[in-house]
Amino acid sequence: MTFNDLGLSEKVLDAVQQAGFEKPTPIQEQAIPVALQGRDVLGIAQTGTGKTGAFVLPMLTQLEKGRARARMPRTLIIEPTRELAAQVADAFTSLGQNHKLTMALLIGGVSFEDQDRKLGRGVDVLIATPGRLLDHFERGKLLMNGVEILVIDEADRMLDMGFIPDVERICKLLPPRRQTLFFSATMPSEIQRLVNSFLKDPVRIEVARPSSTAANVRQALVKASSEAKAKRETLRGLIRGAVELKNAIVFCNRKRDVAVVHRSLARHGFNAGALHGDMDQHARMATLDSFRNGEITLLVASDVAARGLDIPEVSHIFNFDVPTHAEDYVHRIGRTGRAGRSGTAWTLVTPAESKYVRAIQSLIGNDLPWEGAGGELAEEAPRGGRGRGRAKDAPHSKGRDRGGKAAPAKEDRRDSAPQTRKAQLKEPEAAAATDMSGDIRPEIAAASEFERPAPRAQSRHPKQRGNEKSGADTVFGESEYVPAFLLRPTRASSK
Ligand code: ADP
Ligand code: MG
Repeated sequence: MTFNDLGLSEKVLDAVQQAGFEKPTPIQEQAIPVALQGRDVLGIAQTGTGKTGAFVLPMLTQLEKGRARARMPRTLIIEPTRELAAQVADAFTSLGQNHKLTMALLIGGVSFEDQDRKLGRGVDVLIATPGRLLDHFERGKLLMNGVEILVIDEADRMLDMGFIPDVERICKLLPPRRQTLFFSATMPSEIQRLVNSFLKDPVRIEVARPSSTAANVRQALVKASSEAKAKRETLRGLIRGAVELKNAIVFCNRKRDVAVVHRSLARHGFNAGALHGDMDQHARMATLDSFRNGEITLLVASDVAARGLDIPEVSHIFNFDVPTHAEDYVHRIGRTGRAGRSGTAWTLVTPAESKYVRAIQSLIGNDLPWEGAGGELAEEAPRGGRGRGRAKDAPHSKGRDRGGKAAPAKEDRRDSAPQTRKAQLKEPEAAAATDMSGDIRPEIAAASEFERPAPRAQSRHPKQRGNEKSGADTVFGESEYVPAFLLRPTRASSK
């Protein structure tokens, strides 16, 4: 099957050739003809399968007929994050090079005035994050009743970010006689409900089992200490030992750890950058550009910050933390092994994280192998989530991050001062709920303990701050754990 067989216009086919796409990906092959017939599409495909082309190409063909009117966009694409919206805009620019279409990008961090001016002139394609779109609508600068095609991309990410109510509102503002192209990597029940209410007799296209990880990604678990410094040492060993590491994303669950791991890697001479929710739009784009063009080799990021980004050439993924939501694992792994390339994904596992590994294994339908000796999942923790046999530690325990046989580090004990325990017992996933587009849902923002700059003076022991400043990744005696395979001579690949 070639692009010529799908019913696309000459102009579009020419641009596809210019883009260097030789043949359609499976989702493109199946979705494009259906979309060109004007039918609704429910596309379920994992990250990196070419979903953008699956909607941009038929939209371009359909937009060749008719023209835009002031304030009435003809098509609307909703994306969960600014970066994804900007990427789709880029795809429209390159694939629409033979079309004289107008486009507006409504994302946070950009002035309303510029966006208003564009809308006023009339746009063929409007690409937006839900919050900013509704802001414009409420200001009366936008009429939605001319929308012929609606695209909802990355619906499961919208769900994670709490955008489903906004998406529902937007759907209700659109004319019922429209075409809807709906894409998601996974289909949780909330997403299915959305599909049932807003799609009309959609053609369901599923190119891989939902929640499957890319087949060409080598995945392995690595035993890690719950002691932070030792864990960072294990990470550095993995990075140094990685074969053919071109560039990598290091995922952390908490924003605070993104900063700590980034600083630590930089101190140890690695060429690293960080992507986190506090950065403004400009800084994010600059960091991403540096990563894309190879100025930065290692990108330390949280799930929120890295969500859905199109970084085609990542060779390695390092999960510094096991994601607490199993589906985030699938998304993280989706950053490598794209477009048929091979990739490698390592996941550092502390005993307390065993339960999250189990959840991932049950989601992806197979067990992940351990790299090196001694790796095994800790037994199921009794209710309350403490590690096995650690009940005696309770007065000092954080309730998580407790390392198997390793003695709790001094840092940990100090960290458990009564006034800070409550915060620490909070699960880290609040971090995953803050949108990087700046469209922060108030209720989520309130819960988002980990996305705020740490109120250090209150929550940290002064000596610990001292340690951080001194910057030395001191080895803490017996709590230091380095898997045996990391001690073998390896190719150094820092810098
Ligand atoms: P998804 O939205 O499913 O995560 P994207 O649409 O962002 O995936 O595409 C992932 C990468 O694959 C992008 O770099 C894109 O340019 C590339 N790509 C898309 N379609 C094709 C194709 N038909 N042939 C080659 N590369 C493609
Ligand atoms: Mg996409």
